[in-house]
Amino acid sequence: ETVNFGLIGLGTMGAALALNIAESGYPIAVFNRTAAVTDDFIENAGALRPRLTPTKSLEELLAAISAPRTIILMVPAGQVVDQQIEALAPMLEEGDLIIDAGNANYADTERRVRDSDGKPYDYMGIGVSGGEEGARHGPSSMAGGTQAQWERVGGMLEAISARYDGAPCAALMGPGGAGHFVKMVHNGIEYADMQMIAECYAIMRDGLGMEAGAIADVFEAWNDGPLASYLIEISGKVARATDPIAGGPMLDAIRDTAGQKGTGRWTAVEAQHLAVPVPVIEAAVAARNLSARIEARQRGADAFGAMPREMQGAAIGTELLEQALIAGKILCYAQGFDMLAKAASEFGWDLPMAGIARIWRAGCIIRSEMLNDMASALEAMPGDNLIFAPPFSDLLTRNSDALRKTVTTAISAGIAVPALASGLSWFDTMRTPRTPANMIQAQRDFFGAHGFDRLDGKDAPHGPWGDDG
Ligand code: NDP
Repeated sequence: ETVNFGLIGLGTMGAALALNIAESGYPIAVFNRTAAVTDDFIENAGALRPRLTPTKSLEELLAAISAPRTIILMVPAGQVVDQQIEALAPMLEEGDLIIDAGNANYADTERRVRDSDGKPYDYMGIGVSGGEEGARHGPSSMAGGTQAQWERVGGMLEAISARYDGAPCAALMGPGGAGHFVKMVHNGIEYADMQMIAECYAIMRDGLGMEAGAIADVFEAWNDGPLASYLIEISGKVARATDPIAGGPMLDAIRDTAGQKGTGRWTAVEAQHLAVPVPVIEAAVAARNLSARIEARQRGADAFGAMPREMQGAAIGTELLEQALIAGKILCYAQGFDMLAKAASEFGWDLPMAGIARIWRAGCIIRSEMLNDMASALEAMPGDNLIFAPPFSDLLTRNSDALRKTVTTAISAGIAVPALASGLSWFDTMRTPRTPANMIQAQRDFFGAHGFDRLDGKDAPHGPWGDDG
């Protein structure tokens, strides 16, 4: 069989992806910086061994692939990718294609695509989601590139991808960095979705005094309803697990410090650049940052009294909590898709909004049943905000009071719910015909003579601030 594909970086993702590609019918040559890793990989490849060509140098790798050659990079994002491109470039020929399938910053991908101009090789950035399991058995792939590039590799990407009702979860998002941009927003939504689930967990654990096992029951029940999703499913499994070392619930033995590799932060930063409000994602990033401040949090508890307190009065039930999370989730995705729409208009990308929801239905970490309805809603009303699209407008009408009750009850008890609360504040603002921004604009005019518009449309470029202003 002819080998047209090569892969560099047999780490967690690269090894899984190489096996998936081979299994899907595409023989592939592989290379890893540490040769022993390649040996182990080949040794454990089982029946797929004949479709895998191990190589011990980049020269050997390129020699093992026949034209048209596609080389997939699965190495840490950032400098390492630049180093790999630099090492490969002198050996590449017309028609060769480099694909960065890691979590590159979309701006880096844009730059690398520009740099490939006038060089013999082509360059694509493809966002791959689904973790190791997804990479091995079917990820969701968000490709950036030209139509011609997509026609070249789309077949392979569809073949290896997850499927929802038979439809492959892989698509061309747009040119240049569009694929990595969409993957970044996917990860931002992932942060927010996880944070909102964690806030519901906090309410159950601290507000309702529930044990991990009882919380697992709740997540399992939710996974049979409108919230059915991978993240709810694994939250149930996590809450159910027993600590193999000390016994007792696994969750109770885990330190409350959340790590991050930065894609959520990038989403928040890019949202600021685009001036698009995504407060739920920003709150989720801030919550991870705050979680790392263990000593400061203990100091705060000592100085001001430890939070949370017990939830008083008619505590909220888990049914209300489910409704609150349904509303919160819709608000979170509404903000994420809003950011994609803004990026599309800003960068001149024709992002397939409904198509994005479709390829997120399976394979990726945020896969959920709700995304299927979101795909239909965005199909019917592309470019409009999800909160206005049925059935989400109706779901918000039905469930936003539960979100308000949940947030106010949690806040009264000192249970921090930054993502749920900022989702609600965003929604409240979206329903406020008259915000207090007239005060901001007056202040700006006062100190900076920035002017303002009058409600009655009359001419009045400045306020009567006199010598003070
Ligand atoms: P790993 O750490 O498991 O693997 C990294 C790979 O890159 C290894 O093969 C390693 O080789 C190689 N590598 C590291 N540094 C260098 C270097 N300086 N020069 C050459 N090769 C190097 O990472 P992952 O597989 O988890 O991640 C790869 C990419 O995929 C990242 O961009 C990540 O963000 C992205 N990603 C990861 C997901 C996940 O769930 N893990 C999900 C989606 C995307 P060696 O064996 O020699 O160390």
